[in-house]
Amino acid sequence: MRGGLFLLLLILSAGAFAQQLPVVEPCATMQEDQKSRMRFPQRGSLDDFEKVIQKKIKEIELAKAQGRTENTILNIPIIVHVVHNGEAIGTGTNISQAQVQAQIEVLNEDFRRAPGTPGFNSNPVGADIELEFCLSPVDQNGNVMAEPGIHRYNGARADWSTEQIENILKPTTIWNTNLFYNIWTVRFASSNSSLIGYAQFPDQSGLAGLPTSGPASTDGVVVRFQSFGSVDKGNFPVMVAPYNRGRTLTHETGHWLGLRHIWGDGGCSADDFVADTPNADGPSSGCPIGRISCSGVNMVENYMDYTNDACMNIFTQGQKTRMLAVLQVSPRRKSLVEGNLCNLIVADVPTPNFDVNNTTVLLGGEVSFTDLSTNFPTSWSWTFAGGDPATSTQRNPVVRYNSPGTYAVTLVATNTLGSSVLLERLSYIDVSEEGLCNTENNFKSTNTPSLIKLSAFGAYTGYLTGHNSRRYGAISEYFSNPLGYQKISGVNINFGKIKIINEDATVDVVVWNARGAQNAPGSVIERKTVLLQQIAADAAANRPTTIYFDRETPVFGRPYQVGLELAYAGDTLAIRSSANGQSTGVTSWLKTQAGVWTPYTIELGANI
Ligand SMILES: [Zn+2]
Repeated sequence: MRGGLFLLLLILSAGAFAQQLPVVEPCATMQEDQKSRMRFPQRGSLDDFEKVIQKKIKEIELAKAQGRTENTILNIPIIVHVVHNGEAIGTGTNISQAQVQAQIEVLNEDFRRAPGTPGFNSNPVGADIELEFCLSPVDQNGNVMAEPGIHRYNGARADWSTEQIENILKPTTIWNTNLFYNIWTVRFASSNSSLIGYAQFPDQSGLAGLPTSGPASTDGVVVRFQSFGSVDKGNFPVMVAPYNRGRTLTHETGHWLGLRHIWGDGGCSADDFVADTPNADGPSSGCPIGRISCSGVNMVENYMDYTNDACMNIFTQGQKTRMLAVLQVSPRRKSLVEGNLCNLIVADVPTPNFDVNNTTVLLGGEVSFTDLSTNFPTSWSWTFAGGDPATSTQRNPVVRYNSPGTYAVTLVATNTLGSSVLLERLSYIDVSEEGLCNTENNFKSTNTPSLIKLSAFGAYTGYLTGHNSRRYGAISEYFSNPLGYQKISGVNINFGKIKIINEDATVDVVVWNARGAQNAPGSVIERKTVLLQQIAADAAANRPTTIYFDRETPVFGRPYQVGLELAYAGDTLAIRSSANGQSTGVTSWLKTQAGVWTPYTIELGANI
């Protein structure tokens, strides 16, 4: 008997040991932030952001010390993109309006530290953030929405990886980030099964670029549909404990307003840049009230920890100041408050702003203008020097340019309170008189060194832009086709290295359309097989090789990709590339051995 009992105890203690697994990472904000900054280098680093925000925090603290603060409740309008796969409303991923509303109620209780709700605390450092969120009563065009703040979107996909969300879902569905806080509810792919949400951090300054590309195309928060809402507020059977009381959105909204995890994403010496949140040696899970690490009691009730939803109830005064600083300095945060869609009360005259699909156009070409003015303009007055029409009162006009030159554009936007100042962009539109028999060149000698050895990135051999030990299947460069060429007859390629082992070795020069994710190569439009012998003399003389296609290759006035398909049989081949990594958008692509198109920078983990 004794022997039997001993065995049983052993099994039990083995079971208890097995449960002490490392904390699962439910929030991917830090991981996604790294990827996003690699994809959009114009965002700078988190340290850059910290410098700007700390300066603003000091200003706010000084004003507070001098009693120069006003008690103002700020409002932020939300659009929730409910991403489903064709289910009826209220079933599966197509969550009900009531579930969405329950979530926004929790968010407001938490941000207002509302008495009598789970968001209340009596901690002396606990703060009412004085920030309220609403489901936007109107859509992007100012029309009243049947389901306020809800955009139901059939993504025709059972689930979503973070890559698919960042590259496809967000850019396809996002609403104007100057006016709306964008939130997506999705079913995460099984590869992200431990994930419950992630946010995009705010940026520190205005960034150039179209709203449809760059960081504005991905700004917002993603939460799994099983954690969006609260079981305290209704019967929502899709919700899964212990993250079923709406605190995922509270946590991610904290990130979206610049808060870091309470443990600073490191050990005791890592900082969350907030003074009144005690240091912790790592995240807490469950609800270990009174947990001690880093010689102090950890604030496991803080929304920026990983504890259970029911455990959380506090943002601190320091966290509040940080979020208010973000709302004063960050693009796409500041404007949300100014837009004030929640109250449908126009706070001020518009601040005029617009964007275009293209600032360079071929003679006779068209430019589409998109109004981005704040504060609900109801009328617009545009002038287009050199354009047809020369003036417009439409919100989003399309203008044709029939004379070569560079031209100014002006806009005045008007709402019920009056007219904006005049926005004038001089020399804004460039109309080229170059004919169709022309070239598009993306080689800039001022950019990156042209032949990069893979040894710079690890224990690899060969060249980045050619045959190498990573056995890339193809390399390609993006051509934006700003003048809208319809056809191309050939390409010049500057081969930097060539060594022929097999006399009849060839390489395929390929043209793809640029319709993959993020303009990656899509379908093949043209292919020409070229003997390496043909290009050896050019490479030796350091001059480009001209390759003519067998036909006028149609590119339909759209961007395209040109590159090489590599079939390694001992010969060495590399092209010179001047592509400047991703600093101006993704231009340089390679196809991994697994057949996936990837920007150089992501594949190699370095900005080139
Ligand atoms: Zn987080």
